[in-house]
Amino acid sequence: MSDGRRAAPSSSRAPLGGGRVATGGDPILAAAPHRARKRFGQNFLHDPGVVSRIVEAIDPRPGQAIVEIGPGQAALTSALIERAGHVRAIEIDRDLAARLRQRFSAEKLTLIEADALKIDWSDVAATPLRLVGNLPYNISTPLLFALLPVAERVIDQHFMLQKEVVDRMVAAPGSKTYGRLSVMLQFRYRLTKLFDVPRGAFKPAPQVTSSVVRMQPRAVSDLPEVDAQAFARVVAAAFGQRRKTLRNALSELLDADEIAASNVDPQARAETLGVQSFVGLARRLAA
Ligand code: SAM
Repeated sequence: MSDGRRAAPSSSRAPLGGGRVATGGDPILAAAPHRARKRFGQNFLHDPGVVSRIVEAIDPRPGQAIVEIGPGQAALTSALIERAGHVRAIEIDRDLAARLRQRFSAEKLTLIEADALKIDWSDVAATPLRLVGNLPYNISTPLLFALLPVAERVIDQHFMLQKEVVDRMVAAPGSKTYGRLSVMLQFRYRLTKLFDVPRGAFKPAPQVTSSVVRMQPRAVSDLPEVDAQAFARVVAAAFGQRRKTLRNALSELLDADEIAASNVDPQARAETLGVQSFVGLARRLAA
């Protein structure tokens, strides 16, 4: 996917004066304001109104297992800690991790210094989790896919992403933005786009508008029975060549008769099919 959240060139060179964090009195950290790192997709939220809107939407409560991906300079983290008392957070940037450790006691913040794409989420998700993140856009799609297998142990996910990605996630069949991401996520989660966030709410300002999305995993008992691998294969193949008819796009997996036997028109295109039709095709493939 495109890394639309890379900083706009003009603003990315400027040190983040407004983004300076309290450093617990450490003279070395205090003397050096953090410079946003493009490679970690660092666009820090600095609009308190947006922070409160996000935290209001999450409504964190004491005792809940809140996990934040990419706490950065703690714009969301401190508001979450205020409401929930404790947060676990995963941060890849060592400098930011050191500052976070200075700022918050271990009672309030459990910091996991790691790449959220590489950690074993089944370890983190030992208890039902509430996941939160103003996600680095360059990892957002792979991260959404990496979280699918632990959805059973997640209460909800509130993520800020590129608006264009959120629009694809929530798109309905027939729309131009409906695709693999929409089908794979809508199968597993109820998705609600909450609101857009303008570029100016971040420092440095990203190149594109952001949106906040709520993802609530569907109860396992409500999920249609289907082989997960077959489902993923059918969806990937169907949208791999989205301009082709299903008969052509799925030719290596199912023939026209098998597609028709799944109650799907072999002449149709993937973007017209609802999630349930992909389930039908996947069942046929796995049969
Ligand atoms: N939450 C902060 C805020 O809202 O201002 C920072 C958001 S910034 C867009 C993304 C954060 O994710 C940065 O702190 C960045 O260092 C961190 N990050 C980037 N890639 C990461 C990864 N693979 N694993 C964990 N954290 C990552």
